[in-house]
Amino acid sequence: MKVELLQHSSLAICATAIRTCWQSFDKSDNGGEKDKDLIDRVGNKFKHASTLEHLTYTFYISGISRALLQELARHRMASPSVKSTRYTLKELKEETSFTNGMSMLELKEKYSNPTEVYADIHMVRASKYLVWSGVLGVDFSSVVALENLRLMLVDGISNDRAKYCLPESYKTELTWTINARSLQNFIALRSSKSALWEIQDLAKTLFKILPSDHKYLFENSLKEE
Ligand SMILES: Cc1cc2nc3c(=O)[nH]c(=O)nc-3n(C[C@H](O)[C@H](O)[C@H](O)COP(=O)(O)OP(=O)(O)OC[C@H]3O[C@@H](n4cnc5c(N)ncnc54)[C@H](O)[C@@H]3O)c2cc1C
Repeated sequence: MKVELLQHSSLAICATAIRTCWQSFDKSDNGGEKDKDLIDRVGNKFKHASTLEHLTYTFYISGISRALLQELARHRMASPSVKSTRYTLKELKEETSFTNGMSMLELKEKYSNPTEVYADIHMVRASKYLVWSGVLGVDFSSVVALENLRLMLVDGISNDRAKYCLPESYKTELTWTINARSLQNFIALRSSKSALWEIQDLAKTLFKILPSDHKYLFENSLKEE
């Protein structure tokens, strides 16, 4: 997975929004320590959390599975724009076979350990489209599904229909915009050990790449068991 922070609003904007309530603009230090304290006090401690909605972050997230995407989409207080399979599946038509008729057993027999299996050219080519779970049986089943999908497309089946046999591990990407209040909720729910491993990775990565002066707003949400 690759995650990039495309843009974020400044802490000064949020402080200005808060200071609007009391018309205390003259006390601002333009996003400095005084403003940071104010945002934490009003937004978090006084539970005037709607003020945190003035802070927004836009991320470009790629190389995640559609399994993760489905969970990400449950977070209604965020805006996703997702790569469309209906428009982009044609990229698979240019590919040659991902299995060459080989079974998992044959692939395993060719190599002495799983690391070598994943380095096989067929697996490497498939990894452009699939997120590995780390369990060879599961991952090879995804490769077979990918190959079936490729054959459907080569057969001239429309993207609209062929997409129904996409494996959940199929890679996707999106631009995702979220405000600080909702991101606190996302990080709290999804960095927890009870969440899917892949979304845990995402939640922790999102925290990691936040601007360093914004991190203090999310430290209490992050679960680092
Ligand atoms: C460990 C884990 C397991 C899960 N398992 C399942 C599962 O098995 N099946 C399943 O369907 N989902 C499951 N979910 C998804 C979960 O139910 C939520 O849909 C998801 O986490 C989004 O959370 P949210 O509603 O707080 O976020 P958002 O949709 O971003 O909402 C943010 C906040 O806005 C408020 N809000 C939003 N919409 C409304 C509304 N309509 N009414 C009132 N307040 C609202 C709430 O305060 C909410 O917390 C799971 C989530 C986790 C973390």
